[in-house]
Amino acid sequence: MEPFQLRNDLYMSIPLLEELNPSIVAGFSTKRGGISRGDFNSLNLGLHVGDEQQSVRNNRQVLSEAIEFPLSNWVCAQQTHQDHIEKVTVTDLQKGVFDEQSALSSTDGMYTNDKNLMLTLCFADCVPLFYYHPKKQLIGLIHAGWKGTAAKISRKIVSEWVMKEGASLNDIYVFIGPSIKGCCYIVDDRVITSVGKTVHAPAQQYAKEVTKGQYAIDLSKINKLQLVEEGVKEKNIFSSSLCTSCKSDLFFSHRRDGGKTGRMMSFIGYKEDI
Ligand SMILES: [Zn+2]
Repeated sequence: MEPFQLRNDLYMSIPLLEELNPSIVAGFSTKRGGISRGDFNSLNLGLHVGDEQQSVRNNRQVLSEAIEFPLSNWVCAQQTHQDHIEKVTVTDLQKGVFDEQSALSSTDGMYTNDKNLMLTLCFADCVPLFYYHPKKQLIGLIHAGWKGTAAKISRKIVSEWVMKEGASLNDIYVFIGPSIKGCCYIVDDRVITSVGKTVHAPAQQYAKEVTKGQYAIDLSKINKLQLVEEGVKEKNIFSSSLCTSCKSDLFFSHRRDGGKTGRMMSFIGYKEDI
């Protein structure tokens, strides 16, 4: 079953995660239902892409009302396709929510065990990964494009939880959201070599050579293989089959739209009396 389900025009939710804990609010926004125009039509949630700032703030407000999680409880990051993961606390609330400058700098992953704190990251093809550890009440979010995948950021958060937070591997759940898939994502030798080095599994499990030196690749599959090799239980990993490039009615796509486009947002927060 597809783990990401359209809740309404604005976002997809993750019913299996809600079943594990109804206090967790998590999902992936669509490009619908906002006020941005042109290349950013309409629910662009990225402040850094050249859209009107006030439109983006308005769009964020629209989403926050739909998910009933106030903007004053969000945290946003400046994403740089690297592997820095930040443990976020309530002292970080509102960073990057209303302006770019205050965002967590150079951060492509975040986690917390604080309540009423919405972790957010922006996407337009890269792989979003949502993490949950019930016993430790840890939640986390990762942004993995090919560079982040090559840097193994999706398994780095797992080792941090184990080493720093005393989390047990058996209890970690991961939900991998919509991203660009092999149907639409062709890369060269440099990329395939960089990401291929991160797993023992043979390349046929995540890529196919389409012409000489050109490969159709599915980054979400490599991230899943990395997680399994790190020790996360395969039965606890749930992957979306949705391609952000194919689903042009639902998603922005950096590659399909030629680089000038809006951003969807992945979000996860533990809600308690707000
Ligand atoms: Zn596709």
